[in-house]
Formats: sequence, structure tokens, C-alpha cells
Amino acid sequence: MITVGDKDFVPFIERKTIEARIAALALQISQDYQAKRPLLVGVLNGAFMFAADLMKEISVPCEISFVKVSSYQQAASTGRVTQLIGLQEDLTGRHVVIVEDIVDTGLTMSEILTELQKQNPRSVEITTLLFKPEALRKAIRPRYVGFEIANRFVVGYGLDYNGLGRNLADLYVLAEAPGVA
Ligand code: 5GP
Repeated sequence: MITVGDKDFVPFIERKTIEARIAALALQISQDYQAKRPLLVGVLNGAFMFAADLMKEISVPCEISFVKVSSYQQAASTGRVTQLIGLQEDLTGRHVVIVEDIVDTGLTMSEILTELQKQNPRSVEITTLLFKPEALRKAIRPRYVGFEIANRFVVGYGLDYNGLGRNLADLYVLAEAPGVA
């Protein structure tokens, strides 16, 4: 058991298992994107570690860029406004592979997709280290999934709890409260 901030977490997925899965994903991406010079688009902050490790294992020429998502509620409307910050590349005609740490409800990913599609890429696929199918509320289909997991809160390997825990090399899951099944 470890403590991150004010919560206890238990071991979930070991670094060796993460490494092996990333190598398999990278192999698949390398096969699918031969001669396509894919542009990986990592979503900060959570995906920085995954993106770095994934890119190291990709064997075909590829590029990387990072974006940050900034969402805010518009005062006089119910709509959420999403901006992608940091993307300098021209996506026109490019093969884009979004690299995300986790797809939970899918809301963030759906907004990222909408923003990226505006720039007329030739193709857009999603790679996510973790995917919580039970929590999904949008029609998001990640092409490359590291691990499908239950609807529980995880930290480590770039993912945080209140800003902490990103430095952990393994993944941990929130410990069940005593007495709760
Ligand atoms: P969404 O619900 O929009 O798919 O997920 C948005 C964001 O919520 C993710 O990119 C991630 O930052 C955060 N998130 C969702 N589930 C977890 C989790 O289990 N652990 C951590 N650390 N962050 C999560």
C-alpha cells in the first residue's frame, strides 16, 4: 500500500507489464504506419510518460507534438468551450495518432477529436494506455488500447491524484474503503 496525498493506493499494473504492452502497441503502430510518417499528438500532462516510452519503441519514421486541453464553461450558455493549446503543426493530409493516458467518459477525447478534425488530417486514430469501457459516454473507439480496466481511479506512470503520483513507475489503484464491497 502507498499513500498519495490523502489517499491510499494499492499496486495495480507493474512497470514490466506496462513495458511489454507498450512494446506490442508500438509494433502494431509501426506495422500500420509504414511510410505514413505519423504525427503522434500527446495529451499533456498525463500522457507524457506513455508518449515518450511508446515513441521509443516505434520503428518507423514519426514525429511528435504535445497539446494541452483547456475547457471552460461559457458564461451565458450551457456549452463547454474546448481549446487545444500548443499544436503548431499543420495537420492537413497528415496521419495523426492521438496519445492519451486514459479514456474515461470519453468527453475529453471527443472534444480533442472535434478540434483536430477541423484541420483536415488524412486520418486520426487514438492510442490510450488505459480504457474504462464501463464509464464511456461518447462513441469513442480507441484503435490501440494498452489495458481495459474497471471503473476505478488509478495513479502512477504519468497519471496524478491532485498533482501527485505522476512519478510512480508502476500503476496503482485507489484502495477500497474498509467495509465497502
Ligand atoms: P474523460 O472522462 O473525459 O474520458 O477523462 C478525462 C480525464 O480524466 C483523463 O484524461 C484523466 O486526466 C482523468 N481521469 C479519468 N480517469 C482517471 C483515473 O482513473 N485516474 C486519473 N489519475 N485520472 C483520470
